[in-house]
Amino acid sequence: MLRSLDDDIEEILLSSEEIQQRLAELAAELDRDYAGKRVILVGVLKGAFVVMADLARYLRTDVEFDFMAVSSYGSATQTSGVVRILKDLDRDIAGRHIVVVEDIVDSGLTLNYLLRNLAARHPASLEVLALLSKPDQVRVETPVRYHGFAIPNRFVVGYGLDYAERYRNLPYIGVLKPGVYAEA
Ligand code: 5GP
Repeated sequence: MLRSLDDDIEEILLSSEEIQQRLAELAAELDRDYAGKRVILVGVLKGAFVVMADLARYLRTDVEFDFMAVSSYGSATQTSGVVRILKDLDRDIAGRHIVVVEDIVDSGLTLNYLLRNLAARHPASLEVLALLSKPDQVRVETPVRYHGFAIPNRFVVGYGLDYAERYRNLPYIGVLKPGVYAEA
C-alpha cells in the first residue's frame, strides 16, 4: 500500500479542528481591533501561506495581502539569527496598518529582524500574529499581539511547517517519528 505522510507522524499536537477554531477567534479579534481600517497582512513565506489562506477566509476586515520570504542561516532545525530577505514586499507600507503573519516563533530572532526592518519603513501600525510559539525558547523579546498556541519545545511539521520541504500540506500540527530523520 502507498505510504502516506500521516504514517510519518508520531503524535498530533494540534488537530485541524483546533487550529481552525483558534484562527476564527483570532480573525474576530482582528476584525474588532481594525474596524473601519484597511490592513495589509504580510505573510512570511513559506510556512505562513497556510495560516494566511485560512485566516483570510474568517476575516471580514478590508485586507490586502503581501508576502516576504526570508531565510535564516543555520541548519534546518536551528536558527542562527542571521536573516536574509529572499523576497521583499511588493509595495511601500509607509502610513499603512501592517499585521505580520508567522507560522511559528521559536527563538524570535527571525521575527525580531523582520520587525526592525519593517518598522524602518514607517507603517502607521505594526503588529504580529503567530499561530505557534515555543515559549521556553524565546530568546529575544517578541511582541506577538495575536497568538494561537504555545507548544512544547519539539520540532513540529504540518499546517505550513516543513521538514526538508515536506509535510507542509498536513492539515494538523504533528511531531515526526524519529525514524524519519534517520532516513534523511
Ligand atoms: P526563530 O527565528 O523564531 O528561531 O525561528 C523561526 C523559524 O524557524 C520559523 O519561521 C520556522 O521556519 C523555523 N522553525 C522553528 N521551529 C520550528 C519547528 O518546530 N518546525 C519547523 N518546521 N520549523 C520551525
